[in-house]
Amino acid sequence: MRAVGVYPQQREVRLIERVEPGIHGATDVKIRMLEVGVCGTDKELCAFVYGTPPAGSDHFILGHESLGEVSQVGSAVEDLKPGDLVVGSVRLPCPDAACQACRSHTQDFCSTGNYREHGIRSLDGYMADFVVEDRAWLHIVPRSLRDVGVLVEPLTIAEKGFHEAARVQSRLPWKPSCPKALVLGAGAVGLLGAMKATLEGFDTCIYSLQPEPNPSAAIAKAIGATYISSQEVAVDEMAAHLVHIDLVYEALGAAQLAFDVLKRLAPNGIFIFTGVPRAESLEPFDTAAIVTNLVLKNQAILGIVNSGRQAFTNAIRDLGIFHTRWPGALESMITGRFPMEEFLDPVMGRTGGIKNVIRIG
Ligand SMILES: [Zn+2]
Ligand SMILES: [Zn+2]
Repeated sequence: MRAVGVYPQQREVRLIERVEPGIHGATDVKIRMLEVGVCGTDKELCAFVYGTPPAGSDHFILGHESLGEVSQVGSAVEDLKPGDLVVGSVRLPCPDAACQACRSHTQDFCSTGNYREHGIRSLDGYMADFVVEDRAWLHIVPRSLRDVGVLVEPLTIAEKGFHEAARVQSRLPWKPSCPKALVLGAGAVGLLGAMKATLEGFDTCIYSLQPEPNPSAAIAKAIGATYISSQEVAVDEMAAHLVHIDLVYEALGAAQLAFDVLKRLAPNGIFIFTGVPRAESLEPFDTAAIVTNLVLKNQAILGIVNSGRQAFTNAIRDLGIFHTRWPGALESMITGRFPMEEFLDPVMGRTGGIKNVIRIG
């Protein structure tokens, strides 16, 4: 079968031939991959910034944003049958008996750092014709989401972020009457975050570099959010326009902008970081003023990485809601579909667009 292999030591990424995997355990599920999404993580893996092959191998298969169709199930799998659609988990638990996070089935909070991640760290990914995975790490997707199911994994970030934020904000015994959310970045993670914020009742604004018109701004309009270009409107002016920012969902990986916006967060507000910053030299800033602000305004800062089972379940539910509520919006986020032979341009980031997808099956 075909697969996309990353060879970190040789610094090579290429289409490879691998033996088709088979069912061995009673809870194994064989999946014919349909589509795999490409994101900034894949670009960094293909630039060899990080990425670890499975033990004993010199390469790993790329891909963590999956959508596949079940082709065969082990004897103990009763709730899946050939033809069902599934999305695979990314992170699997570490083996450490003392890791309370992993032993509580919340490996996204793993504290030892010895977790494994499909297509990133010590586990092959999903950019292959076939994959075999244990039933425990698969999530069932309804057939109605066939064309957009590849967005489940990127949506899990927003699901975890908003779930955790709601838990933190339950410290406030009231609900703001018209809460405002500011989303930084209009890529797939930002747009899905904006959809989730809107669904949760926030008056949502997306703040991103590109001036209008552009495809992300059109999607923002379609979901009832505001779009403001950071090239046209400075942070102060944007913050003055919004008046009150209760929640910031950062999906950009730009540390300087994040700190500029953090200063404008409303009292009792929460700031969610999801992006890992690119190397950039920060302007010197007054750390004492930032800490004073956090203290005097009871603000919270939350970092979010990876997602657990509940986030996948919620993402599949909410993707269905988005699909019905904003027809065509999810579809227009997928701006490019490429055959596996042409994987290189999207994974190297040469194609542009919002979400590029490798079409496999
Ligand atoms: Zn990703
Ligand atoms: Zn762990």
